[in-house]
Amino acid sequence: MTEIRLDTLTKRYGTSTAVDGIDLTIGEGEFFSLLGPSGCGKSTTLRMIAGFVTPSAGRILLGDDDVTALPPEARDIGIVFQNYAIFPHMNVAANIAFGLKMRKVGKAEIDKRVREVLAQVGLEGYENRYSRELSGGEQQRVALARVLVTRPRILLLDEPLSALDKNMREEMKFWIKDLQKSLGITTVYVTHDQDEALTMSDRIGVMERSRLVQVGTPEEIYERP
Ligand code: ADP
Ligand code: ADP
Repeated sequence: MTEIRLDTLTKRYGTSTAVDGIDLTIGEGEFFSLLGPSGCGKSTTLRMIAGFVTPSAGRILLGDDDVTALPPEARDIGIVFQNYAIFPHMNVAANIAFGLKMRKVGKAEIDKRVREVLAQVGLEGYENRYSRELSGGEQQRVALARVLVTRPRILLLDEPLSALDKNMREEMKFWIKDLQKSLGITTVYVTHDQDEALTMSDRIGVMERSRLVQVGTPEEIYERP
């Protein structure tokens, strides 16, 4: 449970501004969606929080820690992309264990955590399956498990459902929301889909041409006259 604070967060590429002075506080345990059309700066904002893109100006705080200058691996975050691509040559357990092995976690602890996280994402007994044997939704659950197993303090999701077909997307939408609530993990969810933002979020931040133009609950955003 960690608060996220963005302080005049800005990214410029040459003379164009991708993200223009975002001020935003996302509360502990909140499900926050960044909503807006393609090219408005959502991904760049998320990638700055993750540490993959260096801000031109501004600060990023996770709890009391200023992480603006920290590399991604020192930020203790989990991020899942649209193209979640789990490793096809590794089974589910190996995919999930991968990050822990890199962190030199012991084998017994890894096995325990893999079982635990598979239960959390509703894939008990899937340890030995390969990605070709999984549906798109199941692969996305594995991608989430791979991130959650490292016990990140915040979760960043970049259009995680857009590669799925409509029915699967509908199902996963509710599933992700329930999982987020049961874990209580502060979550930033990037989407261009109003319906996803409306269904899943505690609050929504609407972006337009590199600016954050409105912040509110789904009711406030959608039911304003
Ligand atoms: P969104 O996620 O809302 O679709 P992005 O954050 O990906 O938007 O992009 C915001 C703007 O910044 C776009 O105009 C995009 O072309 C530009 N942009 C993103 N990444 C780069 C980059 N590495 N170099 C130059 N321009 C970029
Ligand atoms: P997303 O699928 O998250 O919207 P994009 O397809 O916009 O990402 O961008 C893919 C990659 O290309 C990213 O690393 C992004 O930073 C980079 N990129 C996006 N727009 C531009 C641009 N106008 N010039 C250079 N690189 C860009």
